[in-house]
Amino acid sequence: MALQLSPELRQRFQQLKQRYPSLRSALIPMLLYAQDEIGYVSDDLISYLAEELNLRRVQVEETVLYYSMLRRKPAGRFHLQVCTNVACLLRGAKPILEHVRQRCGGPPKTPTPDGIFSFEEVECLGACTGAPAMQVNYDYYENLTVPQVEQLMTQLRAGKKPAPVPHISGVQFQPHPAEVRVISRRFGLPDSTSLDTYLKHDGYQALDKALKQMTPEQIIEEVKRSNLRGRGGAGFPAGMKWSFVPKDTSKPKYIIANADESEPGTCKDRPLMELDPHQLIEGMLIAGRAVNAHQGFIYVRGEYRYVLEILERAVTEAYERAYLGKNILGSGFDFDLVVHTGAGAYECGEESALMESLEGKRGYPRIRPPFPAVVGLYGCPTVINNVETLSSVPSIILKGGEWYANLGTPKNGGTRLFCISGHVNRPGLYELPMGFPLRRMIEEVAGGMRNGKKCKAVIPGGSSVPVLTADQLDTPMDFDSVAKAGSMLGSGGVMVMDEDTCMVEVAQRIMHFYAHESCGWCIPCREGTTWLRKMLDRFHAGGRVEDIRQIGELARNMLGKTFCPLGDAAAMPTISIVDKFRDEFEEHLRSGECPSARSPAGVAH
Ligand code: SF4
Repeated sequence: MALQLSPELRQRFQQLKQRYPSLRSALIPMLLYAQDEIGYVSDDLISYLAEELNLRRVQVEETVLYYSMLRRKPAGRFHLQVCTNVACLLRGAKPILEHVRQRCGGPPKTPTPDGIFSFEEVECLGACTGAPAMQVNYDYYENLTVPQVEQLMTQLRAGKKPAPVPHISGVQFQPHPAEVRVISRRFGLPDSTSLDTYLKHDGYQALDKALKQMTPEQIIEEVKRSNLRGRGGAGFPAGMKWSFVPKDTSKPKYIIANADESEPGTCKDRPLMELDPHQLIEGMLIAGRAVNAHQGFIYVRGEYRYVLEILERAVTEAYERAYLGKNILGSGFDFDLVVHTGAGAYECGEESALMESLEGKRGYPRIRPPFPAVVGLYGCPTVINNVETLSSVPSIILKGGEWYANLGTPKNGGTRLFCISGHVNRPGLYELPMGFPLRRMIEEVAGGMRNGKKCKAVIPGGSSVPVLTADQLDTPMDFDSVAKAGSMLGSGGVMVMDEDTCMVEVAQRIMHFYAHESCGWCIPCREGTTWLRKMLDRFHAGGRVEDIRQIGELARNMLGKTFCPLGDAAAMPTISIVDKFRDEFEEHLRSGECPSARSPAGVAH
């Protein structure tokens, strides 16, 4: 049957084709929007898009295969995507997945006979403070229980779609007394996404100052003075990154907001975009002014569709009121901004892989040097920063770098929007000063351990980092102090585990994630994650004593031997869990079973 596309979709395609400096950049959004309409990526669609974008069919096909959200076969009318990554696992995701599996009957990604449902176990959805969570198509349902899932499915079957969460669960509209609100200070304002609300609460004043009272060099100096370090995970000083962009080049320059938030345990960029999109836009404009860039892109993970729509509305509003476009605020400065959707690939959070993906290709990382500041998007100088980093910039410019630096600890300026998940009473998003003690974070801010249990371990910065143990809870939560304690502050995703948690199961789930997300380019990562996954699986089906040593050795052999940080990200938590909880691996061998198997909820209780 010939390809049938609605006039609206064809019109959208035309708009997408005009948005990017390179035609191929439109490929991934076109694939995803077409899939939304026709249900999957058909052979006809591939041929059509290849022709539209002057590509060979194989180029489209190989791109489709890379991205987990793109399907070559139809799904059910309601595609149930159950997250079982660590934050959800800790709060009961396993029985939810089991229930969905039983109710759907057949294998994953296959429609039920009536075509109503299909299901899939997915990686982190960025809903960690609302765990356990599930997406139905693009809608988020959070803090679920098995009966709620059953009710949800019953209602969907009856044609009544229950309202999804209006915003991420765990966002605090009333600040905790310990919080210091900088980037989250507009959360909870009525109509917080609108330009009028933003303008009433300091909005675009920093841009005005940056355009009319500061030189680009002064902006960079102010950001350097603030000690703002990259909030995506690496913690690289933002001002220094900006200063690497060459001034004497005739090439265009680009600003990218990395909103591909996919690190398990991390969901801070989601509220920053869904509740205060203009703050991010203003931060990008100031970054553009600082490095003389006139084009920006916000690369949003594909699962965050409703967030992308909020951003698009904010961008439209900013254009209508001349905060984007030509001669902004009468300054002569021009800046255009495009909101771009990814299509499901953790690896695209790595900056060079993200740029490949933005160019419409598979998200393979690039070999560096050259670094993006010199050779980035489309081969041009590019600043790429995390959403939280860019959202911090307007306050820094408005109130001064020194003010911001003084909120934190030496070399760790400002605040962080921490996502606290797992076995605490009040999982949530809390903006706290850098250096805030982990113990107070758990006991005071997040309401203490659930059910009066003791804390056994904490993953302090997303699943890529080594675990901390209960005797390390007095660690101040800033980049340098957490590094001194043998871990990393990473993305600020704090996952708290109580005394009943099976650490073997946590290690196993983490490795399933990295084995799934490895792009396969380099052997230590591709083979290493696969073997580690197999060995960790064996502890749940009759492990071998030599595996304990081998897991540690294999993981250590991956360290520093891969093209991108994913190899290290898989190895580091594994090494720490084997080293710190060896007795639990031995106990699995002695008893022949996982203690979590005795609990119907797995590691959750
Ligand atoms: Fe790909 Fe893994 Fe190598 Fe990164 S480390 S390039 S994800 S194979």
